[in-house]
Amino acid sequence: MSRNLLEHRWQQLPETAIRRLQAEQLRRYLRTVVLPFSAHYRELFREHRIEPDSLRTLDDLQKLPFTTKADLLNTPERPQRAKDFIIIPDEKTLRRRPGTILRALCRGRERVRKELEAEFRPIFVTFTTGRSAEPTPFAYTQRDLDNLTTAARRIVEVCTARPEERLLSTLPFAPHLAFWLAHYAGTSAGVMTLSSGGGKVMGTEGNLRLLGTFKPNVLIAMPTFAYHLLQQAVEDCVRCKSLRAIVLAGEKVSDGLRDKLRGLAEGLGAPNTAILATYGFTEAKQAWTECPFPHGQPSGGYHLSPDLCIMEVIDPQSGRPLPPGQPGELVFTPLAARGSVVLRYRTGDYLDGGLTYEPCPHCGRSVPRLVGNISRRSEIKEMALDKIKGTLVDFNQLEHVLDDSPHIGSWQIELRKAHDDPLEMDELILHVQKLNGTDEEIVSRELSRRCVAQLEISPNRILFHTAEEMRRLQGVGALLKEQKLVDNRPNAKPASKPKATPRPAPNEDSAPSAVIGGQAVNR
Ligand SMILES: [Zn+2]
Repeated sequence: MSRNLLEHRWQQLPETAIRRLQAEQLRRYLRTVVLPFSAHYRELFREHRIEPDSLRTLDDLQKLPFTTKADLLNTPERPQRAKDFIIIPDEKTLRRRPGTILRALCRGRERVRKELEAEFRPIFVTFTTGRSAEPTPFAYTQRDLDNLTTAARRIVEVCTARPEERLLSTLPFAPHLAFWLAHYAGTSAGVMTLSSGGGKVMGTEGNLRLLGTFKPNVLIAMPTFAYHLLQQAVEDCVRCKSLRAIVLAGEKVSDGLRDKLRGLAEGLGAPNTAILATYGFTEAKQAWTECPFPHGQPSGGYHLSPDLCIMEVIDPQSGRPLPPGQPGELVFTPLAARGSVVLRYRTGDYLDGGLTYEPCPHCGRSVPRLVGNISRRSEIKEMALDKIKGTLVDFNQLEHVLDDSPHIGSWQIELRKAHDDPLEMDELILHVQKLNGTDEEIVSRELSRRCVAQLEISPNRILFHTAEEMRRLQGVGALLKEQKLVDNRPNAKPASKPKATPRPAPNEDSAPSAVIGGQAVNR
């Protein structure tokens, strides 16, 4: 009953109803799906002596231990760790269930067998794109693909795309959530969808041609690629007046970048293009979006699906859940997943606004929303990039400084040792593309001043490049994901160690390792 109400009225329920129905749905989900059939959680609940029925309200969720990225990694003793998290039903248990017997009596055994297959048999996989670890597979059953379709269709709904529109996705062809979500978004909403595969498949040229000929109303892209594509389009005098929205995935989106993309869209003849960000991750098997909002006003945040997941915000140090409106780390629990399932999953992502249940000021939907910027702390830790010149550096903030600088187009952060000597000091080098013909001296001074003011560190060098040189540096059209941060320090981890000069690596698999993205859908 709770699933039905939550599902059918997913965007209309008040906070108290959402929390009550979610707690009900969680108890049933644990009792009938997770505990009987998940090797990992059956053991964990037994060890901690937790009964699903003891979770009376969402506040009781804190009785469950967290699951972390490390829990999913293979170890020599457990070489296939990710398998422990897959829901694998025991046929005997299923057959003995009164619900199964009743359904078999009403609809016939064969039909029930097919339904159970669709519910539980893994038929699809996506992978994480971790930096230092092996990619972790996440399995989907047909039921999961149906949930993915629902989540994707809701993204289209919240973004307000219409069936008569055309959608161009330039996300790279890859077994990653972002690509498939974009595919299901368009097709499930009945919108003409063209997936170009991004720069690596069709080159910037091919994508430029599509902008001019396919004339999309909605462009789905990773922010860095969107910037390069539109910049090149403006240079080549391509027109795309139909462009109404740019939906960004795979990296975080700063206000400065939104302004720059809006400016470029205007150059294509589309002056009122909405720039919308999405947030999601492999382990969630879903993603969420912002609704269109007026320029100059704050975003309404990411609109969650209350029937598909519970999102908590916790204090990253103490692990204590925080009340709505407080900033903290995001923790995810699915409510309807089959296949790979992680409960109370610590994302490592830090939300600087908070979770709110208030109706959205822009679209009026009454759903839980994640408000503010999301930065990925985990990745910074993973890459051991937090100390430059002995000072702690917040790379998310440095990215914002660069994105928000009005005289800078694309950029790349490079870390290296002075004179390439491992015993020397760390150096921070900024590669930037200067805009609007401003004097290099002025841009350098302004950028150094902002870095000192906001990060208490100044770059050792600022090097200027043309748009074409930046495209080459970042690997646009050559890599699956553009390089925005390159660690050339000799003791950088192998997985994140690029070449001596920051040239695009020929192997796409090594590409994301040297990049700090933001909130990646296709992790
Ligand atoms: Zn809204």
